[in-house]
Amino acid sequence: MSITIDENRLLSEIEALASFSDAEPPAVTRIVFTPTDLKARAWLKARCEEAGLTVCQDAVGNTFARWNGSNPSAPVVGAGSHIDAIPNAGKYDGVVGVLGGLEAIRSLRQSGFHPTHPIELLIFTAEEPTRFGIGCLGSRLLSGTLSADAARKLKDNDGATIDEVRREAGFGGELEEVKLPNGYYKAFVELHIEQGPLLERQTIPLGIVTKIAAPASLRVLIEGAGGHAGAVLMPDRHDALCAAAELILVVENAASTTGASDTVASVGICEVFPGAVNSIPSRVRLSVDVRDTDLQRRDGVVRTIEAACDSISDKRQVSIQSELLNADAPADCAPAIIEALSQSCRKHELNFIPMVSRAYHDSLFMARIAPVAMLFIPCRNGYSHRPDEYAAPEDIVRGALVLAETLAALSK
Ligand SMILES: [Zn+2]
Repeated sequence: MSITIDENRLLSEIEALASFSDAEPPAVTRIVFTPTDLKARAWLKARCEEAGLTVCQDAVGNTFARWNGSNPSAPVVGAGSHIDAIPNAGKYDGVVGVLGGLEAIRSLRQSGFHPTHPIELLIFTAEEPTRFGIGCLGSRLLSGTLSADAARKLKDNDGATIDEVRREAGFGGELEEVKLPNGYYKAFVELHIEQGPLLERQTIPLGIVTKIAAPASLRVLIEGAGGHAGAVLMPDRHDALCAAAELILVVENAASTTGASDTVASVGICEVFPGAVNSIPSRVRLSVDVRDTDLQRRDGVVRTIEAACDSISDKRQVSIQSELLNADAPADCAPAIIEALSQSCRKHELNFIPMVSRAYHDSLFMARIAPVAMLFIPCRNGYSHRPDEYAAPEDIVRGALVLAETLAALSK
């Protein structure tokens, strides 16, 4: 069997999909269930059907394009990613995994390969949190990480619920039906641009992801006492921003001292009230993001931060409340899929390195119900989520080729 990726077809499809956008080119904006997104979905569905795949969609719009193997009831070998794009994004994030996955399947069909297991392309709904404030909506529901009840409570910025928005977009049925049964997948592989600079820096064409890091996020509210910046003397102060400053350094230190370079933590938001030059800060709101590939280590950092909230509160006589907003578990990729990807790279004499995915992806949630792995290709300067995001044609083709070879090996 010799697999040929049709570079021109794949690249022209990436351009075609980028034309479904609410931003001026080269920027791409494609928010879930907007008219633009629905047009892109219809176009993509037509491409899948043209390729001979059977397309079905679930209640939240996750789309499955299936190639039945000789044993249609065998566990599925899946590939896929997302096509939604944050405002002013680029044309490769997610799309490379979807259209690269479609091209991989087409190339296998054209090579004369006959799978035993069904091979399915999966296009996830709303990987990006833009509309409903939560990332990976489709894969959270597929994996049961998010319950249907919890999903129904989510609203977009106009106050519309998921049920209203999806039904309006033409996706009926109940959210309860979205969760996939255990054992549905034999394997799931997501091809994706790296969104970081490591492959490009080392001039290595492929990265095989062995672990996917996951964030815990906290919202911290500090309330001290305000007052005139001249009149209140230092011993009498309960400055909320000084307490915040101590806590921010605890966050930095807690992450830097775990002994593992995979631990990272950031305070990305610091809102100061009242925010006047001659006023002592009375209230500060912080957002804290802690990420790691190891759940226990990450949660240890979170506990250190929570303990510091108590001790700083005592010491400075300010109130500090911290709320854990979410704490997704990191995932390990499946050794069997990592091996299949590695062998596919070797077969085509392509250099690769093992990598950690530091951004999170739908595969993080799919890992709850399926053996998963990811394949990264370089992107220029590591840029992503911006209009000048770029992946070179030869890298996209290599990614699709290795994906095709891997799907063949896993579905035999
Ligand atoms: Zn993505």
